[in-house]
Amino acid sequence: MAMTDQAVHSNTGLVDELQAWLEQNWDPDLTVGEWWERLGMAGWAAPMLPADCYGRGLSRGDSLIVAATIARFGALGAPAGMAIGLASPTITTHATREQIDRLIPDAVTGKVAYCQLFSEPGAGSDLAGLSTRAVKDGELWHVDGQKVWTSGGQYADMGMLLARTNPDAPKHQGITWFAIDMHQPGIDVRPLKEMTGHAMFNEVFLTAAEVPDENRIGDIHNGWAVANTTLFHERSGMGARSGGGAGGPGAMPGRMARAGTVVGDLDKRAGDFAPPARTVTASKEPRERTGRRVVSPAQGHISLARELGKLDDANIRQGIAKAHILGTLAQYNTERHKAVRSQGGDIPGIANFSKLLMADIIRHNRDLGMQILGARGMIHSYNDEDRDELAELPGGAAAVAVTAQALGAQALPIFGGTDQIQRNIVSERALGLPKEPGDLAKVPFNQLPKNG
Ligand SMILES: Cc1cc2nc3c(=O)[nH]c(=O)nc-3n(C[C@H](O)[C@H](O)[C@H](O)COP(=O)(O)OP(=O)(O)OC[C@H]3O[C@@H](n4cnc5c(N)ncnc54)[C@H](O)[C@@H]3O)c2cc1C
Repeated sequence: MAMTDQAVHSNTGLVDELQAWLEQNWDPDLTVGEWWERLGMAGWAAPMLPADCYGRGLSRGDSLIVAATIARFGALGAPAGMAIGLASPTITTHATREQIDRLIPDAVTGKVAYCQLFSEPGAGSDLAGLSTRAVKDGELWHVDGQKVWTSGGQYADMGMLLARTNPDAPKHQGITWFAIDMHQPGIDVRPLKEMTGHAMFNEVFLTAAEVPDENRIGDIHNGWAVANTTLFHERSGMGARSGGGAGGPGAMPGRMARAGTVVGDLDKRAGDFAPPARTVTASKEPRERTGRRVVSPAQGHISLARELGKLDDANIRQGIAKAHILGTLAQYNTERHKAVRSQGGDIPGIANFSKLLMADIIRHNRDLGMQILGARGMIHSYNDEDRDELAELPGGAAAVAVTAQALGAQALPIFGGTDQIQRNIVSERALGLPKEPGDLAKVPFNQLPKNG
């Protein structure tokens, strides 16, 4: 993706400091857990966190430079997932010093994996309508209810839990945010199989589950404000990923080490998950006057169409041009937002707008990829061995990626707030249009009309 290569060129001081640190610290023979301990405690795993909260206080743009530099060096990158992406920024924003020092080190070093226990069967878009209850008994909260769509719940050590703590208050005012231990008898995690063939998300039943008050993040009943921090980071993370041809056939992930105690990667050799080192000068790609590499966000589709002899098809050329335009717009959006934020400003609604654009890009890339594949697009494999065999066919691994991405393309337009909800937010909060009729935000939760 072009962002990565551009990023590495644009902050020499940061790159030099990190490179020197990597030369001293990277050792492929460390275990994943040992390496992440070094990376996390040095502030390089979650560099966007404040410097006194196990980060380095870097902007999102600079944190992309950090990730790109680690990859280019050939070291294993920071643990992916919700512990660093969502839980850590939420906790560091709202928790006490004691909670930060107790919870954040395990999150940034990949020792624990988090999941997000927000959505429920009756509360998705209307998240504030959630009905999982938490009742305080001394220093302990007892939790009963059901969550659904819980991504990675089966691999999580901790959950970001939203529970109703005051049903007499209007729905936004009676919710509390907890960091709950997933390894307890009161929590039953049941994986749900998707059309992708994976079971990425789960339903989670909480029956007399327990969470100590010391794991309550923020004030009692003030969880909506805390949840909004989580959701902000979820949406802006998606916007940041929109800086390229996301969903295109070039975007195949490699073998990734997974955080947390459940998967079992922490004891494996770090070098076995590291990408090959790359040198900045090795590129033979065309360059802009700035000296940066130019890689189209549609590059993966261009290569695939060329390989399958479809590059002269007028419709496909049109689709490739559109993929390039949308991907480039997404990159400019990210850059524009970065520039405004670096001056202390903000662009209202940009995170929502970026997510909407990302949804369009993913849908377009799905359709374009399938158009390039033609009949080959009807063959998809649900297991690794068959996938390897399919990768021997014309189109290779890129074609395998296209069918996988086509099946997964429905996800992003739904999670983190559906397209319709993003449009509602942009219209009400950014454009100042009137709210939806029938606003129930002031009605006590237990007096709200219920379905059925
Ligand atoms: C891949 C994936 C991973 C997810 N991971 C997690 C997770 O880890 N943790 C978690 O808590 N949740 C997760 N979710 C849940 C996700 O946040 C919800 O699916 C989403 O908020 C939508 O809620 P819902 O599915 O209940 O749909 P509903 O809210 O029932 O919406 C159904 C339809 O009605 C539309 N709609 C609803 N209200 C309005 C309105 N006011 N105006 C206009 N249209 C409206 C919606 O846009 C949608 O098209 C995940 C979802 C997906 C797809």
